[in-house]
Amino acid sequence: INKIAVFTSGGDAPGMNPCIRAVVRTGIYYGLKVAGIRQGYQGMIENNIVDMDNHSVSNILQLGGTILKTARCLEFKTPEGMQKAYDNLKKNKIDALVGIGGDGTFTGLERFSSKFDIPVIGVPGTIDNDLYGSDYTLGFDTATNTVIEAIDKIRDTAESHARLFFVEVMGRDAGCIALRAGIAGGAEAIMLPEKDTSIKDLIATLAAGAAKNKTSGIVIVAEGDKNGGAFNVAKRVKEVFNFYDTKVTILGHLQRGGSPSSFDRILGSRMGFAAVKALIAGEHRKTVGLRGNEIVLTDIVEALNGHEFKLEDDLMEMSTILA
Ligand code: ADP
Repeated sequence: INKIAVFTSGGDAPGMNPCIRAVVRTGIYYGLKVAGIRQGYQGMIENNIVDMDNHSVSNILQLGGTILKTARCLEFKTPEGMQKAYDNLKKNKIDALVGIGGDGTFTGLERFSSKFDIPVIGVPGTIDNDLYGSDYTLGFDTATNTVIEAIDKIRDTAESHARLFFVEVMGRDAGCIALRAGIAGGAEAIMLPEKDTSIKDLIATLAAGAAKNKTSGIVIVAEGDKNGGAFNVAKRVKEVFNFYDTKVTILGHLQRGGSPSSFDRILGSRMGFAAVKALIAGEHRKTVGLRGNEIVLTDIVEALNGHEFKLEDDLMEMSTILA
């Protein structure tokens, strides 16, 4: 390979920029040309591709989001869209790809590379931390820190007014952010998609706290909790249990932004570095991941099929004991 291209796709996540920087600088160090594709698969189809050098990734290590922009692109799912993308890559003399994104991005890489002869490596970037093949995905640590910071602030007002807050955090299918932020922020209860907590049980927990003179409370509700989000949970609790002044805060998209944490900067750098080294070593159709403290490669089909992501038993157990 002589020239590689890097792109970000799907949901943005803090840590993508450190990864882009690592891909560009590692590629150049090993004598490759490096291009950046803007707006993910959309940019591939529209030939929105720019050559990059060491300088084009200066001063981005600390930036949230992605300097290459990201997009969701339906056209890439069609054979015509893929053909256009491939033609543009050839026009730009690109002969290998590093794609940073989530499940959808990996699916795109898998389909594209089974149709066309082009080596691809996927880097897991999503705040949800719900991909197979890596213990941590880019952006998860920063997002969790953002949530903890918000919980700390909410606790100040909760405590001053004897309020009960229901704080909704991101996680449609995975409660990873909710669980960790709940533990680190000392939440009274955590509602997760992975665990069926009934409103009745939640009220029992809150009432037990009130009986022990807890003067305020914070309940973390993951977006994907089966009771239907923080507003619904708050409403149903309030119908029965009206001890506190009840408030709801939806943290929403602020969880996606912000300067990447040291963990995400280092993880992004490691994964970008490893992705380029893998391409140079002739690897193809793999994802990069962190297992324990080691960078590993996983076959992309295995990564897509392996939905065995699971919250840690000790964290689950501890979260109720320590609350
Ligand atoms: P994420 O990568 O965060 O999971 P999406 O699910 O939106 O985000 O996927 C990102 C992009 O990947 C999509 O907009 C689309 O262009 C591409 N993609 C997703 N699924 C497929 C598919 N089945 N075939 C081809 N491309 C796909």
